[in-house]
Amino acid sequence: MNIVEARSAKAFRIKAGQFLKVTDPEGQQVADLVAFNADDHEEFISSGRSIDYASRLFLTTGDTLYSNRSRPMFKIVGDDVGRHDFTLTPCSADTFRIIYGDEAPAPGCEGNLAKVLNPHGISTDRIPIAFNVFMHVAVDGESGEIKVMPPKSKPGDTILLEAQMDLLVGLTACSAGQSNNFRYKPIGYDVMASA
Ligand SMILES: [Zn+2]
Repeated sequence: MNIVEARSAKAFRIKAGQFLKVTDPEGQQVADLVAFNADDHEEFISSGRSIDYASRLFLTTGDTLYSNRSRPMFKIVGDDVGRHDFTLTPCSADTFRIIYGDEAPAPGCEGNLAKVLNPHGISTDRIPIAFNVFMHVAVDGESGEIKVMPPKSKPGDTILLEAQMDLLVGLTACSAGQSNNFRYKPIGYDVMASA
């Protein structure tokens, strides 16, 4: 298992037909997942299209993560937890300044993704809404009020995704207090030829 150290990110490639397994080794840890077409970074993972086509906010086994061009990027083929978020942007220095009042904020998932994606020619402004693996956002169905809750993931829980095209992936161990029950832990991942 590869490790994304606490409060950091990694970038890697995965080929169509390969599987990405994301593991929460210690439990209650979020991993922001972004993806770009490996051959054309103008095509990227799209929260809006994926939620629209699923007609559901919370995606799980059997659901597809689409690109901005409405092409499948990942299919979720296994899910121990069943609760992830696909609405909130990667946490950032501004998140910590605005929500937490930090005067010297950490770079957050956005800054950490920028560090590993900038070398691939992806500017910070092009980092999309992530598929926030294991992130538990409670939504009031009437008012739409949201509340970030501790993840439901237990130690060793995984989600398994099958790549539908060749992808450049960015994956974090999230740095936001609320999202991770205020303890910053690593994330594990494996790229596999078969499930
Ligand atoms: Zn984060």
